[in-house]
Amino acid sequence: MGLDDIKRRIAAAEAASGRAAGAVTLIAVSKVQPQGRVEAVLDAGHRTFGENYVQEAAAKWPAWRDRFPGVELHMIGPLQTNKLKPALELFDAIHTLDRPSLAQKLARQVQQRGTCPQLFVQVNIGAEPQKAGILPGDADAFVADCQALDLTIRGLMCIPPEDADPVPHFRALRGIAARNGLAGLSMGMSADFETAIAEGATHIRVGSAIFGARDYG
Ligand SMILES: *Cc1c(COP(=O)(O)O)cnc(C)c1O
Repeated sequence: MGLDDIKRRIAAAEAASGRAAGAVTLIAVSKVQPQGRVEAVLDAGHRTFGENYVQEAAAKWPAWRDRFPGVELHMIGPLQTNKLKPALELFDAIHTLDRPSLAQKLARQVQQRGTCPQLFVQVNIGAEPQKAGILPGDADAFVADCQALDLTIRGLMCIPPEDADPVPHFRALRGIAARNGLAGLSMGMSADFETAIAEGATHIRVGSAIFGARDYG
């Protein structure tokens, strides 16, 4: 299990970039991982996890929540509006608020329920045609629209283009967050979380470096 190693590397990256110890929240991404690997990380005391699929999370986490008090679950995958209700039952945070129709439905649900999950707007920081997210040029207006719907936006999330230097993308996300007064930056995965921490990440999403490779077979 790579949890201890990752925690050490996070602490070192925080110190190296002058960030306070504990400034960065580690989201252990447990999608598709075998039960035993996830339970080992729960047994080690970690409580903050990320999942990509509502159905998969619904099948696994209610029982783990009973056994391991204090679990905080983050939705980091694309969210279909017809899965919004079960998603709100399950997740404490949503990192993939990526379109106006989702914001509108979310606002209605939040009003009915009287509680709002931690919300991150997903920005398509590389403006890639195949990727979800708000285009960088539309981000300010989208954040304002969400706020006008009474949604509290905690921060921004991005997945930089593959095979590219992530630094300019992390910096761009940080710039959009700063000019919108948003404190949260969900950026950095197994391959680049130390770079993301140096660029100001507050939440990193690390899967395979903790649990091992995912087997989609
Ligand atoms: C799967 C996933 C991760 C974790 O990826 P690793 O490379 O295994 O760390 C992080 N963020 C998102 C959005 C993901 O879908």
